[in-house]
Formats: sequence, C-alpha cells, structure tokens
Amino acid sequence: RGDVLSTAASPPEVADQFEATVVWMDDEAMLPGRPYLLKIGTRTVGASITEPKYKVNVNTLEHLAAKRLELNEIGVCNLSLDAAIAFDAYAENRDLGGFILIDRISNRTVAAGMLHFALRRSQNIHWQALDIDRAARAAQMGHGGKVVWLTGLSGAGKSTIANLVEKKLYAEGRHTYLLDGDNVRHGLNKDLGFTDEDRVENIRRVAEVAKLMADAGLIVLVSFISPFRAERRMARELMPEGDFIEVHIDTSLAEAERRDVKGLYAKARSGQLKNFTGIDSPYEAPENPEIRIDTQAMTPAQAAEAITTWLEAHP
Ligand code: ADP
Repeated sequence: RGDVLSTAASPPEVADQFEATVVWMDDEAMLPGRPYLLKIGTRTVGASITEPKYKVNVNTLEHLAAKRLELNEIGVCNLSLDAAIAFDAYAENRDLGGFILIDRISNRTVAAGMLHFALRRSQNIHWQALDIDRAARAAQMGHGGKVVWLTGLSGAGKSTIANLVEKKLYAEGRHTYLLDGDNVRHGLNKDLGFTDEDRVENIRRVAEVAKLMADAGLIVLVSFISPFRAERRMARELMPEGDFIEVHIDTSLAEAERRDVKGLYAKARSGQLKNFTGIDSPYEAPENPEIRIDTQAMTPAQAAEAITTWLEAHP
C-alpha cells in the first residue's frame, strides 16, 4: 500500500522535502515543527511544516508575513517528511500532488494541500553510514544510551529530582548528562520565547540533542516543562523502543503555585508574565508515562530512588 507503479518513460519524482500550498482547516492553529501525518494517495507518512513563507489574503491575493496558519488561512510552506514519497506537482497531477494533513492525536484532518516541487536539498543530503555505531558505543560505555524525560509544571520538582537522579547514577559509574530547560534556553534556544510555536521548536531541538547524546551512549536526563503531548510523543519516536522513559513529575497547580520557587506564578497572576504554563498556557499531562511521581506524597529523595529503581529493573 502506498507504492506507485509508473511507466519507465515518465516516472514520478521521489523526494521527502517540498514546497506546498497549505489550506488550514482546523480550529487549532498550525504549529511549525509539530509532527502531523501526511496522506497522499494511499500513502501515509509523518510530516512537519516549517514556518510559512507567507500567507495569502484571499480577497486581494496579497502575500502577507505569517508565523502560523489559523482556521481557513492559506499559506505557502516547506514540508519535511519522515520518508520519501513518489509525487507529481499538483499542477500536473492532482492525484499524486494533492494531500491532506492529519493530527496524530485527535485523528482530525487539519489541512489540505498541493505540492509545488521538491526542495533540491532533499536530493542532495544523504545519511552518512558510520562504522562506530550505537552498539559499539554502548559496549564501550558499559550501558546503552537512554532518554529519561521529566515533564511537569514549573516548580513541580523536575530539576530538583533530575539532579538527585543524576548524582545517584554518577556515583554508580554511569555516564550521564542533564539537559535543563532554563539552562538550554541560555544557549542553544536563546532565540526562543514562550509562544506555542516557540515551545514546539524548543522541544524539537532538545529532543534532537537528547537523541544524539543517547546515541553517544549517555543516559540523558531531560528536565523540561514540555507541556504538549504531541512534542513529547515526537521526542519518544526519535528513540528506539524502550529507550525513552517519560516521567511525569506530578504536582497540583495549587501546590506548585504555593512553592513558587522562582516567583513566576506571582508574576503570571499579576499579568506581568504572559503564556505561563498552568495559568494562561495549557499543560497536557501524560496519559501513559513509564513513571509517575506524586511529589505531594514523596520527598525528592524518595522520588529519585523510585526513578533509579525503575531504571535498574529496565536495563
Ligand atoms: P521545576 O524544575 O519542575 O521547575 P524545581 O525543581 O526547580 O522545579 O523546584 C521545585 C521546588 O519544590 C524545589 O524548591 C523543591 O525543593 C521543592 N519541593 C518540595 N517538595 C518536593 C518534592 N517532593 N519533590 C520535588 N521538589 C519538591
């Protein structure tokens, strides 16, 4: 299913990156970088969209700058797919050039689109095969790489607990690294803010970095609010099955707000801080995390113990 038979004389092109026109049809705006499913003919592949190059004013056909596409907006964007597909430009072949985008969690059709052309980079960049692979690195390290992803509200206790977990693992001679939200925002992600778009990009970059570090054989602790299910799922799917461990640091909003370690809840409540998770930006709790830590029933030391015990039982 999804394969295409063609005449040898005029085969369709094959590529995984495109420019396309996208017509957004969902109440929830398009978010650049978020993973969607793209269905073209009978083929379905994972896809993400870059920031729109422009959107079109449908009355005047004027091109306008845009960061995202809202309901009924039409824009021109680049698409990047998880796998190469056979295609024709929509202008030449509607069947092999027209597609829909599907939300991976709700299964709603969120957009329809038309492929223009393949980006040249998709033909010119190839994955380089290397001789020292994941298994070789794991053998040298004495353990395989993993990503332990701590998610939860600000002030839930992610950094406190991740720090204790890292100390325990370090003391046992494991090779670890802790990626902390605030720290990464000082460097790699200092160009990003807290809008939904920037939060998606924040997590995409951290997930890719964590994946590289795990590939190098490290046990990577990621301590990020990471409020959206879709991006945590994207991070999970970058890793081999079993090597991504989602840990929900579960603290009620009332308790996190009572702790208010950094004074941020007070600022958010008084309107000085916009888009704060739990106040005026949503937190989507994990549905099936590998580990759930109730910080109102456990001390940080007990929480760290629970996580390292779980890791020992699932090598
Ligand atoms: P986050 O990284 O999730 O924003 P922090 O670790 O920076 O949260 O802050 C959590 C605060 O809550 C710390 O001051 C910590 O001492 C306190 N705290 C109180 N009880 C707990 C608990 N059971 N687990 C984790 N942190 C706790």
